[in-house]
Amino acid sequence: MKLRISGYDKESVVDGPGIRFVIFTQGCPHHCDGCHNPETWDFTGGREVEEDEVLEMIRSSRLIKGVTFSGGEPFAQPGPLASLGRRIKEMGLDIVTYTGYTFEEILKKSRRDQDIRDLLEVSDLLVDGRYIREERDLSLAFRGSRNQRVIKVAESLNAGKVIEAEF
Ligand code: SF4
Repeated sequence: MKLRISGYDKESVVDGPGIRFVIFTQGCPHHCDGCHNPETWDFTGGREVEEDEVLEMIRSSRLIKGVTFSGGEPFAQPGPLASLGRRIKEMGLDIVTYTGYTFEEILKKSRRDQDIRDLLEVSDLLVDGRYIREERDLSLAFRGSRNQRVIKVAESLNAGKVIEAEF
């Protein structure tokens, strides 16, 4: 399956716990004021890559704890990312997914879109919500503004309410 990306970072320590391979997806509908990656907004920008090409790069990154799907908006490409995510999990790596939607919005969308449900379920942590410039806080781990949450996905789905991870 093909995925549209703007780029990747082979070793990041700011996009989730531990050393992580980060995939910056291309295309974002949110257009947050103060977004650090406005070049990722255009849905026709970036470049298309095959799932196997991305997996090969991940396999060559030996120090990583997991993979992060970042923006752009990963939930704009839920099918390819859910498929990629399943194969990443088979490699023993965990997954952090960023989204400009809230957890509650994703949950609602997932009721009528199985790909969205699959991407949500393959994610160990979900960092949710748009970037809000007025709520910017540099002291937060793995997020830019106070409205955003780092959510434990499986625990939240089981409990029927948001359970946040603490760092
Ligand atoms: S959701 Fe993320 S990538 Fe999209 S506009 Fe907001 S900050 Fe930028």
